This record gives sequence, structure tokens and C-alpha cells, in this order.
Amino acid sequence: MNQPPQAMYSVPQYVDQAGYPIQPPPGNMAGGFSQHQAYCTAPAVGMSVPSMRAVRVQRFGGPEVLQVDLNVPVPEVGEEQVMVRVVVAGINPVETYIREGQYSRLPELPYTPGTDAAGFVHQIGRRVTNIKVGDRVFVSGNSSFSNNSGSYAQFVVTDSTYVFPLHPRLTFAQGASLGVPFFTAYKALILRAKTKPGETVLVHGASGAVGTAAVQIARALGASVVGTAGTKDGMDVVTRCGAHHVFNHNHKSYEKKMVDHIGCFDVIIEHLANINLGHDVQMLKPQARVMVVGCRGGVNINPRHLMMPEASICGVALGTTSPAEWAEMGAAIVAGIESGWVNPVINKEYAMEEAQQVHYDIIHSKGAKGKLVLRVAADE
Ligand code: NAP
Repeated sequence: MNQPPQAMYSVPQYVDQAGYPIQPPPGNMAGGFSQHQAYCTAPAVGMSVPSMRAVRVQRFGGPEVLQVDLNVPVPEVGEEQVMVRVVVAGINPVETYIREGQYSRLPELPYTPGTDAAGFVHQIGRRVTNIKVGDRVFVSGNSSFSNNSGSYAQFVVTDSTYVFPLHPRLTFAQGASLGVPFFTAYKALILRAKTKPGETVLVHGASGAVGTAAVQIARALGASVVGTAGTKDGMDVVTRCGAHHVFNHNHKSYEKKMVDHIGCFDVIIEHLANINLGHDVQMLKPQARVMVVGCRGGVNINPRHLMMPEASICGVALGTTSPAEWAEMGAAIVAGIESGWVNPVINKEYAMEEAQQVHYDIIHSKGAKGKLVLRVAADE
């Protein structure tokens, strides 16, 4: 790992395990000032960092525009913000759409991609009360469109709303897999579909990051859970996540087999609507809800199939979640970690220098087995 950068202030070098400067312990003198003098007027608690190693995008385009830069400025921490020293960053498909410039909201160039991470709190704004410097945390989103501070970096600065304690039961790689996948799955199943215990849920595309999360949440809720995957290994992952039945979405007529074996569904979490929606609407129980989470193109469906069951098709967008909903989902997921039913599945770790490769793989590789993550620093 690169050497930590020099601190901006000439106060004593109290450092964390990786050598980055942190807040001095209580009762010590700070560069000739008392601790009180040094910090009560400061905008934030903990030490600033002037620059860092980060993946940068200078122009929108293919994976080749992802370049590691050794001298990226670290944004200042606002009053209600937190700076996290990243150990592992999570990779999500949406970050490839943004990198290509093919997304409804785009950051100003240059920017650092990524919203999800796990690591240690390095600095907090003076109004932050839920987290303290040194805490082990996961980051489930960011305000990158305002400060361009993404998680593919040694440090990420984000609003405290998005930062939650990381239970010691989970690794940093698992912590980096909670943000987009678990919050999206929770939003689709609980906030949008209002899934109830005893209902039958199909997670269509259950082997990926959101799918494995959806299976775990639906199972913990008490639903009857059916998942699909495209390979034997993926099907095994879905079974281990708690699905009662697993089918291969690459097998001919698997939809008919599902309905023959299980019957129709109350809720469908759809990860590839452009391929599946036309079949989904033919597998619905009365008042069923189809949640469109993933879609990569247009599709023809016969809306008549919705009429008799009085079923509905709903879009799901994590990006339009309110702060209150975010807090609610965070509380549920933290509780799920504590009680044991939240268990992110890691498929593969990549080094920061392999950012181009992981962006290629997350779109093109077949046979998902959980989550792809970017290793930024060693675990301690
Ligand atoms: P991922 O880890 O790459 O998983 C992709 C999933 O799609 C895998 O389970 C894959 O299964 C499955 N799949 C492939 N072919 C399929 C088919 N014919 N039918 C059903 N499923 C199929 O991606 P992710 O992070 O879970 O995200 C999944 C999708 O949701 C992406 O399109 C992403 O952009 C979207 N998403 C949307 C939101 C939102 O706010 N709406 C949030 C997060 C993600 P196999 O590889 O086993 O074939």
C-alpha cells in the first residue's frame, strides 16, 4: 500500500493502524494547544488528509477511462459528514452506466466512482453524533454528485445518513456489499412490494449481488422463496442464501416448470425485465406485484395478463429513496446483521489497479455468485 500522505495541520502524529493521522487521545496536548483549544473551534473531529490514491474518471467512456491517480484531493468534511478510510469498496452495475455517461444523473468530471464501502471512520463533522473516529463502519451511499467523492479511493466523504456501524461478524468485503444490493432488495421487497410472511416470492436473477440479498431478506421475513440462476454454481449460492426452490433461467421452459411445481407468485423481483417481463405477467397470483429492479432494454408484454389478477408492475429506484426511508432500511439491515440473517456473499475481490477489469466483468461475465468488490487497503 502507498505511504499515508502528510497531515495538513502540524499537530502531533497520533495515527491509526495504517499510519493515517487521527484525533489525539483525551488529555494530551496538541501542538502547543490544549485538546479543547485545538478542536472546539475546528470544523471537524479527526485529521484532514490533503490527497489520496483514487480511481478517477476524466471523461465518460469504456472501462479504459478508469485510471488510478496518486494525487487526488480529499474533499473537506462538512458539518454533517463523515470521512471514511476505505478498506474495501463495493462495485455495482450502475457505476458502469454512469462511467459511460449513460445515466439520468451524471457527476461533473473528473470524478471518483462508487457509493459503497467499508472501513474506519477517519474524521467527522461537528454535528455528527451517531459515529465516532476509529469506528468500523459501512458506507451505503454518498453525496458524490456534490463533491465527486466516490468509494474507489483511500478516503470517501459522505453524509452521516449513509454511514452505519459494521458488526464484527462481517468482513470489510461483506460490509462493502451491503449498500446498493441490500438497500435495493429491502426497498423492492418491503417498502415497494410490501411483501408479507407466507407469500410466495420469485427472485428472478437471484445469484447476483441484489438477488442474493433479496433471497436472504425474503427468507428472514417468512416468505416462500424461489430463486433463479444461470449456472449450477450460482444455483448452489442461491440455495445457501435460503431459497426453498431454485431454477436455472438458461434452461428451456423453466418458467413452465416453476409454475407446474410451485404455482404462481405473489411478488416477483425482476433483475432483467427486458428478457423476462412478458413471462412474469403470466405467473401472477391475485394482487401480485412485479418489481422492476433491473432492465437493459425494451420489452413487449400483453397487459391483459394483469387484468384478472388485478396485478401491478412497479419500478424500483434506490436513487429516489428519502432520508427517512434510508434510515428505516439501515436500521433493519443493521438488525439483520446482528441477528444473523444478513450475510453478503462475495464472488471475487479485485485490486484497485483492476478497476477496468471489474467494470468489464460486472457487465459481461456470466454465472454470478454474489458480489464483486475492490480491495483498497489491508484489513487492519
Ligand atoms: P449482478 O450481481 O451482476 O447480477 C446480475 C443477475 O442477473 C445475476 O443473478 C444473473 O444470473 C442474472 N441474470 C442473467 N441473465 C438472466 C436472465 N435471463 N433472467 C434473470 N436473471 C438473469 O448485478 P446486481 O448488482 O445484482 O444488479 C442486478 C440488476 O439490478 C442490474 O441490472 C442493476 O443495474 C440493477 N439494479 C437496479 C437498482 C435500482 O435502484 N433499480 C439497484 C441496484 C441494481 P446469472 O449470472 O447466474 O445468469
